This record gives sequence, structure tokens and C-alpha cells, in this order.
Amino acid sequence: MTNFTQGTAFIDGQYLPISEAKISILDWGFLHSDATYDVVHVWNGKFFRLDDHFERFYSGMKKLHLEIPYSKNELQTILSHCVKQSGLNNAYVEMITTRGQPEPGSRDPRRCNNQFIAFAIPFVWVCKPKTSLNLFISERQRIPTESVDPMIKNYHWLDLVMGQYEAFSHDSETVVLLDQKGNVTEGPGFNLFVVKNKIISTPANGVLQGITRKTTIELARAQGFDINEKDVTPEQVRYADEVFATSTAGGIMPITAVDNKLIADGEMGETTKALQSAYWLLHDDPKHTIAIDYSINP
Ligand code: PLP
Repeated sequence: MTNFTQGTAFIDGQYLPISEAKISILDWGFLHSDATYDVVHVWNGKFFRLDDHFERFYSGMKKLHLEIPYSKNELQTILSHCVKQSGLNNAYVEMITTRGQPEPGSRDPRRCNNQFIAFAIPFVWVCKPKTSLNLFISERQRIPTESVDPMIKNYHWLDLVMGQYEAFSHDSETVVLLDQKGNVTEGPGFNLFVVKNKIISTPANGVLQGITRKTTIELARAQGFDINEKDVTPEQVRYADEVFATSTAGGIMPITAVDNKLIADGEMGETTKALQSAYWLLHDDPKHTIAIDYSINP
């Protein structure tokens, strides 16, 4: 019997066990990182902020001249089915549009047959619950906004992955890269926040506008915090009272050491704690969630 428990993919109009889903090696998504994608999560059987993820995904496709034949409603049905087929209550759900393959002999992106792929796998954490991250601040620059618009979620990750290797060689788990002016930007799969004297700041430019970042800003404002979207220097990260990362893959996650030096007492700070618990509570709010009907077949 086919086993979907490790996850389900939707590819070429078919649902397959994740291990059987394959793309052509001639697809420019693979050959050129010519693709956009988004990741939404399902928590306790509900999508979290699916509309926001769809908005970012469709806007990225438009900017990249990519098209898919599915409406948002149809996409929701496809993603729901991937989750349902895998029997996952908590899931990491990715949707991808690649440029596809050009006509034989052509290198014209307009002649490519855009491909849509989606999959659901068990939930993924950048930082496991009850643990924290040791962040390395690299000198490496994140690919500039002028070259690749970070607002379009993309697979231009070589800078981030090489940064991760630098972090490992400095006994850290993860990394943040700089912009051309030397301010911090983002890390592999997360946005960064610092708290100093109860004022929260997060880099404004050169970063993906994360959905978790947006949620964190809304929650912080609702809790009465001052929050700034502005340039953040490496020194402001090193001497912050609290530092945390935000991502669909894990929510709001404490960073308790930077460049191997503890932040404050090395424990998750009060502001991070308050925001983290508000973040998970929001997963019961019908305004931000869509329940998956586990009984319906597409
Ligand atoms: N920055 C980058 C480069 C990312 O890849 C991600 C997520 O994968 C984020 C930030 C966080 O975005 P979100 O909160 O929407 O998951």
C-alpha cells in the first residue's frame, strides 16, 4: 500500500508520496533557482494566516512573470489534500512555482512551461521548543535587494548556506548576514528582532517580509510595545537585552547567545516569552486560521 505518512506532494496534477515526487533536471527551478515559493504551516489541523501566504506567493509570481492555472481556492484545496492525505495535524506546507523547461533549443524564459508543485511534510522547527539559538554575525553580505528582491520568496540561498558553515566553524548553530551598509538582515529561514530597554527593533530593508515578522509586529503593538522597523547594527544585536528569530518554521524563537557571548543572563527574556505565548494563542483565533476538513476528497 502507498505510504503517505512522510508527506504528500502534488506534482503534474497528481498526489504522490513525498519520496516519489520528482522534477525534471531540465527545469530552470533546479538549474537556475528560477522559482518562487511560500511555506505556510498547519497547527492543530488549521492553516495559520493562509491568506497572507497566498498574497505573498501570487505577488511573487506576478513580479517574476510566472503563472499557474489555479485560483487561491483551488490552491487551498490542493494544499488541504496534501495535509489530509498525510494525516498530519501539524505540518510544513510548501507551494512552489518554477519556470519549468524551455522549448528544445530555446533559452527564452517566455517559452517555458511553468510548473506548480506543492507538498506537506511534518512540521519543521528552525529551533526546537524549549531550546534556544547561538547566532553568529557573519561579515558576508546577503544578496543585495537591487539584484534579487527579497520580498519575493526565493531560493537564492548560497549566501545563507555558506554563512551557516561559517557559523558551524564558530560553534554557533545559525547565522545572520549583513547588507551593503553593514547592518544585519536575515538568516537562513528567519527574520531577526532585538529588544533594548523594552523597545523592539527589526531590520526594515534587505529582508523578506516574513509573515511571522508581521504577526510579531502586530502582537507587540497590541501589547503596548514600541516597535521600530529600521536599520539594526551588529553592535545593537550584540548588546541587546533580548534577541529572537521569527519564522513559519517555529514561530518566535529565542537567541540567547551572539558570537558565543550570552545575551543578558542567557535565558529567554520576558518580552520574547510574552510574544511567543501570544503567538501560539493566536493559532486558536478564527480570524487567522482555516480548519482543514479531514473528511473531504478533492
Ligand atoms: N527570511 C528568509 C530568507 C526566509 O526564507 C524566511 C522563511 O522561510 C523568513 C525570513 C521568515 O518568513 P516567514 O515568517 O514568512 O516564514
